[in-house]
Amino acid sequence: MGARVAVVGGGLSGLTAAYQLAGDLPGARITVLEAGDAVGGALHTTDFPSGPVELGAEAFIARRPEASDLVAELGLTDALRHPGLLGPAILTGGRLVPMPTGTLMGLPSDVSTLAGVLTPEESAVASREPELPLRWEPGSDVPLGALVAERFGPAVVTRLVDPMLGGVYAAPSTELGLREVVPGLAEALDRGAPTLTAAIGTLMAGRVPGPVFATLDGGYRLLVDALAQASGALVRTRNACTAIHRLGSGYVLTVSGDRGLWSLEADLVVVAVPVPHAAGLLAATGVADGAVSGLSGIRTASSAVVALEVDRSLALPDRSGVLVATDEPVPFKAMTFSSRKWPHLDDRPGHLVRVSFGRLDDDEVLAVDDRGLTAMAESALAGVCGSAPTTLHSRVRRWDDALAEIGPGHAARIAAVRGELADRLPGVELVGGATEGVGVPACIGSARAAARRLATRWQD
Ligand SMILES: Cc1cc2nc3c(=O)[nH]c(=O)nc-3n(C[C@H](O)[C@H](O)[C@H](O)COP(=O)(O)OP(=O)(O)OC[C@H]3O[C@@H](n4cnc5c(N)ncnc54)[C@H](O)[C@@H]3O)c2cc1C
Repeated sequence: MGARVAVVGGGLSGLTAAYQLAGDLPGARITVLEAGDAVGGALHTTDFPSGPVELGAEAFIARRPEASDLVAELGLTDALRHPGLLGPAILTGGRLVPMPTGTLMGLPSDVSTLAGVLTPEESAVASREPELPLRWEPGSDVPLGALVAERFGPAVVTRLVDPMLGGVYAAPSTELGLREVVPGLAEALDRGAPTLTAAIGTLMAGRVPGPVFATLDGGYRLLVDALAQASGALVRTRNACTAIHRLGSGYVLTVSGDRGLWSLEADLVVVAVPVPHAAGLLAATGVADGAVSGLSGIRTASSAVVALEVDRSLALPDRSGVLVATDEPVPFKAMTFSSRKWPHLDDRPGHLVRVSFGRLDDDEVLAVDDRGLTAMAESALAGVCGSAPTTLHSRVRRWDDALAEIGPGHAARIAAVRGELADRLPGVELVGGATEGVGVPACIGSARAAARRLATRWQD
């Protein structure tokens, strides 16, 4: 008999796991339980009259293979698009400064390029980095922001590293593990790079040429729909899993759906929901306390995206968007001029702009209602353009607990959680942005690996 598989959460991670399991376990009966009205989770394409617009993730790192490979497998390569040549600006000291070139996630390989962002005194501090002795324990991990502040000075953190990472990580770099966020840098230090500048230089030299980012013409919904279809899974939207319990050698899931409570029996279970929900579901099993406390230690941040289409009479800065220095007194954290950044979106009647709000421990702004957030986005846009926009269309989307903090030692924490699950809840796998890393490629990689482990287990 084919395996009965329950996937809890129909975001990218859950759908990818379902797709991989369908391939690895022919005959499996896969059910995807999704609490929301539609699958996709943080991949959420909506429509303005002028065409599709992203309200969640808008791109992925194309230099990592996971997303590009999956797009190719699903026959979507023709829809791949890359950004144009414009780089972002940094909002610092009330003015826009072009993001210096030659940085790696904001980490400078050549401090002389930072003159527009740093004061002469700050530049002098940063330029001494190559002379400072660096003590590094191979295999160790440290908070990225603390190391950069110590080596280059705090201004490099607030004006370069945190604004750059803010698009993907909701936490400041002082809360992020170096090895988790820039593994190549930690590895270069492990191999004996004597300074951060040297380690960054090694990484930059080894970079594969070609565009860093990619997206899909038509929106992420192409990927979501293709995955759901190729998985052959029975997708049950508006059905939330509320508990998982062992039943013989398998599991029974309690589901709260639009037609009341029901249960689903499964041999294999994939938990693919944001970390607070995952901790709750594992707690309900009553047998995985260690995993629950491991997951409960991972903090999450909420955010909101306001998508605008504004009249083209507004003069946008000649950049792809605006990253905000973390000491800047403005409520938004980033702004993308989507129709500037992506040439395929530049044929819209208006300019497409996305404004993001919300950071870890700083989500007061998210208490504002949708009209208020839209007004704040318009006022932020007016601030960077010097005149008020005429809004043609707008949409707001909130993302609660969507981004997990990937702190130092995160990999060891997840390994311990996985160990306990294998021991106490065999056949249950945890995937998603709180496991192997935030971001589309990491979620795909994590989901596929977990699905392969489940398939192997079932076949053994
Ligand atoms: C605003 C924003 C912008 C981003 N931008 C980028 C980007 O440009 N590039 C990039 O690489 N990454 C980006 N990311 C990160 C990336 O989108 C996510 O890491 C990834 O999509 C997470 O997928 P997931 O399936 O693990 O989780 P989710 O997308 O959160 O999906 C989880 C699903 O589980 C459902 N669910 C929750 N509880 C239950 C339950 N009890 N029962 C059933 N279903 C449940 C939810 O409704 C949801 O659909 C962004 C994230 C956000 C929030």
